Amino acid sequence: MSAAPSDRRPVVISGPSGVGKGTLFKMLFDRHPDIFTLSVSHTTRGPRPGEQHSVDYYYISKDEFRDLIAKDKFIEHAEFGSNMYGTSKMTIEEQTAKGKVVVLDIEMEGVKQVKRSSIDARYVFIAPPAPEELEKRLRARGTEDENSIRKRLDRSVQELEFGKTAGFDKIIINDDLETAYKELEDFVYQ
Ligand code: ADP
Ligand code: 5GP
Repeated sequence: MSAAPSDRRPVVISGPSGVGKGTLFKMLFDRHPDIFTLSVSHTTRGPRPGEQHSVDYYYISKDEFRDLIAKDKFIEHAEFGSNMYGTSKMTIEEQTAKGKVVVLDIEMEGVKQVKRSSIDARYVFIAPPAPEELEKRLRARGTEDENSIRKRLDRSVQELEFGKTAGFDKIIINDDLETAYKELEDFVYQ
């Protein structure tokens, strides 16, 4: 399946931190090169080892972020774990112009805002097999300090509730990775 899906609407992927969203969409990108593209968000958090500016995120300061909000440059933005994250209008325009299917990886407040926007998207929620799994995965990833892990886990309670109630088009439980990936691929290509 290296052709483009017949449904070319943007795909919004949401779910608690550590559930495996990034792992899953990167598998989609790797296995279908040139078909999908990430909506590269702006964030005030620093890059993790291996992350690249303008590939994973646009890393900016809080002042720069506030300036972009004041200039109405975002489609949506939200605070998460003491940092700001947002999808700029320019990013969506640029990525859509590439003729690829745009994938957005955003948290719940952003999902609400995109739903209220003019963007016609498909919505996927990634859930853990059990809430305890999030802490294990975040620790195994080794990218967050204790404070960040705590904030992410605290927030995951609301995120999991949101996943059950917000009317996602598809809910995928990321237990076995390959099984979850196949569900994502099948949904995107259905
Ligand atoms: P998110 O983008 O949702 O924060 P990541 O994709 O970074 O999550 O995944 C968090 C950690 O969990 C990573 O170390 C990743 O390798 C691991 N992981 C992802 N999916 C699974 C899975 N199905 N089983 C076990 N570990 C997983
Ligand atoms: P991380 O720091 O792990 O990359 O991302 C933390 C959270 O921010 C994740 O839930 C991710 O989906 C969310 N996120 C990333 N980019 C955006 C964005 O542009 N807007 C919103 N609302 N959330 C985002």
